[in-house]
Amino acid sequence: MQIASSPLDQVHTSIARACKASRRDPADVTLIAVSKTQGPGAILPLLEQGQRVFGENRVQEAQGKWPALKAQFPDISLHLVGQLQSNKADDAVVLFDCIHSVDRPSLVTALGKAMDKAGKRVPCFVQVNVGEEDQKGGCALADLPALLDQARAAGIPLAGLMCVPPAGIEPAPFFALLAKLAADNGLSGLSMGMSGDFETAVMLGASHVRVGTALFGERS
Ligand SMILES: *Cc1c(COP(=O)(O)O)cnc(C)c1O
Repeated sequence: MQIASSPLDQVHTSIARACKASRRDPADVTLIAVSKTQGPGAILPLLEQGQRVFGENRVQEAQGKWPALKAQFPDISLHLVGQLQSNKADDAVVLFDCIHSVDRPSLVTALGKAMDKAGKRVPCFVQVNVGEEDQKGGCALADLPALLDQARAAGIPLAGLMCVPPAGIEPAPFFALLAKLAADNGLSGLSMGMSGDFETAVMLGASHVRVGTALFGERS
């Protein structure tokens, strides 16, 4: 009997293929299942298949659904992938195991204080606006070294760099740019690649891919 492979299996297969093509070890790529807008009914099947790393883009939404799931599956790792307002820094530090969207001095200050207060050091990615787009999260390329210095001085553990390339154009040059910026700044983690482009991102060195639609289907 042929058993249809699950979306999770298919994403793992794609990651493995990209790793093989680029002589990488799949163990060096963390799949973050981006579960924003998804309820427990969609999340539980992934947990039952062994997925433990999840991503959310809003603090409040995550507070509503993850404490109960974490009680059931204590080894869940929860990543904040969306923009963070400074006034939510305390809540974010308490709930999340990793933050991918650090992009400005005021947020670095707020997160440093929140980590001191919580007695918890949460690894953070600094998001870079690689396409230099207006209205897009991420720090400007020119501001990156100073922001990294500030984060280090505030005692924030730096996991690496994160980007969301401009929509509708080939993402590879932007992934390559992020990889170069990370190397130039002594960082190894690269949070890049979403449903449409995670194989490319893996081939260009992604350590973390953030995949929603390919696992859960289109968001309503
Ligand atoms: C929603 C989201 C994703 C996942 O996007 P898909 O295209 O559904 O895989 C990844 N990263 C960020 C920052 C997101 O907001």
